Amino acid sequence: MLNTQHNKVELSDIEIDEVGNDHISTCFNTPIRKDAFDKTDEEKIETIAKHFEAIMQTLGLDLTDDSLKGTPKRVAKMYVQETFKGLNPANKPAISMFDNKYKYNEMLVEKNISFYTYCEHHFVPFFGKAHIAYINNGQVIGLSKLNRIVDYFAKRPQVQERLTMQIGKELEHALGTNNIAVLLEAKHLCVASRGIKDDSSTTVTTYYNGEFLNSKKKEEFLKYLELNADK
Ligand SMILES: [Zn+2]
Repeated sequence: MLNTQHNKVELSDIEIDEVGNDHISTCFNTPIRKDAFDKTDEEKIETIAKHFEAIMQTLGLDLTDDSLKGTPKRVAKMYVQETFKGLNPANKPAISMFDNKYKYNEMLVEKNISFYTYCEHHFVPFFGKAHIAYINNGQVIGLSKLNRIVDYFAKRPQVQERLTMQIGKELEHALGTNNIAVLLEAKHLCVASRGIKDDSSTTVTTYYNGEFLNSKKKEEFLKYLELNADK
């Protein structure tokens, strides 16, 4: 967790990364308590359903209504089993690697990976596309695993900067190389549907390391993102 020195100032994760290198290993981690998994999923669903019912009651909704009475349980199950299941490391996808037998030594780009996640400030969705590239270090990964890694970290309350870094760091770990590029473009419903109500803006975040810090490699990656697979 972050130390008190940095808790005093409200810095984004990225800024904290730049402020103190003693935080490098933790600044992109989701802030989670040690007792996060003391309760079973069933116990969590029961507790959340009670609390969500209280929210609905407080808003003045009639929970005896047919359409509303199942909502607290439905929301609780959705939170624990779907939208936030990536909080639990037990749900982390198993990654299998293969030898790079064909000696493919160029970058591999997987683009337009759809993701849906929740803004941790408003608990409304933000969603979009992730684009990933890596240059292998003798081992390659099954392509669908890239989608699964994105999905795992998206299934948490998130900020886009942290989601981008978590995907990048996990790929480095799984692929045994720091030749990684990640670009996320997302629409935030907390911006589009409330507050400023800007329906047209999107947010882009990037993570580059290893060979992708070289502007030529970065340009090559960005060029491939412009290619249309349908043409
Ligand atoms: Zn938000």
